[in-house]
Amino acid sequence: MTQLADRISQVTPSITLTISAKAKAMKAEGLDVCSFSAGEPNFDTPNHIKEAAKKALDEGKTRYGAAAGELALRNAIASKLQRDNNLNYQAENVIVTNGGKHALFNLIFALIEPEDEVIIPVPYWLSYPEMVTLAGGKSIFVTTSAENNYKITPEQLESAITPKTKLLILNSPSNPTGAVYTPEEIHSLAEIVIKHDILVVSDEIYEKILYEGATHLSIGAVSEEVFKRTIVCNGFAKAYSMTGWRVGYIAGSVDIIKGMTTIQSHTTSNVCTFAQYGAIAALESSQDCVKEMLEAFTERRKFMYSAIQSIQGISCPLPYGAFYLFVDISSTGLKSLEFCEKLLQQEKVAAIPGIAFGDDNCIRLSYATDMTTIEKGINRLNNFIQSIN
Ligand SMILES: *Cc1c(COP(=O)(O)O)cnc(C)c1O
Repeated sequence: MTQLADRISQVTPSITLTISAKAKAMKAEGLDVCSFSAGEPNFDTPNHIKEAAKKALDEGKTRYGAAAGELALRNAIASKLQRDNNLNYQAENVIVTNGGKHALFNLIFALIEPEDEVIIPVPYWLSYPEMVTLAGGKSIFVTTSAENNYKITPEQLESAITPKTKLLILNSPSNPTGAVYTPEEIHSLAEIVIKHDILVVSDEIYEKILYEGATHLSIGAVSEEVFKRTIVCNGFAKAYSMTGWRVGYIAGSVDIIKGMTTIQSHTTSNVCTFAQYGAIAALESSQDCVKEMLEAFTERRKFMYSAIQSIQGISCPLPYGAFYLFVDISSTGLKSLEFCEKLLQQEKVAAIPGIAFGDDNCIRLSYATDMTTIEKGINRLNNFIQSIN
């Protein structure tokens, strides 16, 4: 067998893919599987965005572009950050990347040295710790609780900080929990960030998917002091249902953007040129499509949450953002992976085991799927819980 680099043995392939692959194989066999495993909106990309990319293709936007992205898109992103988030960035503060995921990878690769510590609240998006490991850094996990809606407190943050702390990864609205930090909570975290002079990367990919009046405050907007220490990560995948387009971005200080651009110039080069023109249209056209998708999510969330509440033995906090419920299944006596495997086997329902996000007591249910599947899947989940109690 080929001797692979040691770094490969230090990371785990995505657990979510194992379950999804099994569910897909069952579907291919003709079995009627209900899937709550999707990490992407189930809508097609809005037409005007597709049209803009087609037009760019016709106009010959098919060549290599600048590694950091098309200037027009970097400008559009800077304006968006000003308009929506009250963050004062120019085009030179922005790099366009192959999705939000690659934005974070390049950032961590550009920032983190061996021994550097990165604070990651648990449950976390599964790629964060793996990226830190690949960069040779050390993840410091801070476990949150359902009682606190899976949010890190300023006290918890402060006690995790050491002289080696370089970066905090904040994700609000959160995948997998749907938690949204209130502006007050963001303010108190910002105080700690300033006090200990650490950096914070704010993953805001779900900022548009908010419910019941919840608001999103980008931590960099709190003050000039925290703005200097903030890096904002966002993308087009979730808000505009553009997961396959692979367009994301990071905004931050010019030195960070330059460092990331160097990495990008030797690895991926520019993001697909005509896809970037679709992204420009997404930002500069009417935002009605975002609202329409949000309306569908709102209805599903309401149904899902009350259905989960009515099933004895499982529970979850009310999510205020994204399109996930993080459900505590510990009273069943099953660990999350075993729970999900049995649920898929017995009831043909796919869910993601919480262990993938650092919490073995829970499972993640995505409601980025149609109402018929949701209703059927919830009934089956209920049957499953009754069968083991
Ligand atoms: C989906 C997602 C991303 C980025 O996704 P891309 O498809 O790479 O843009 C980043 N962070 C979280 C928490 C996500 O769920």
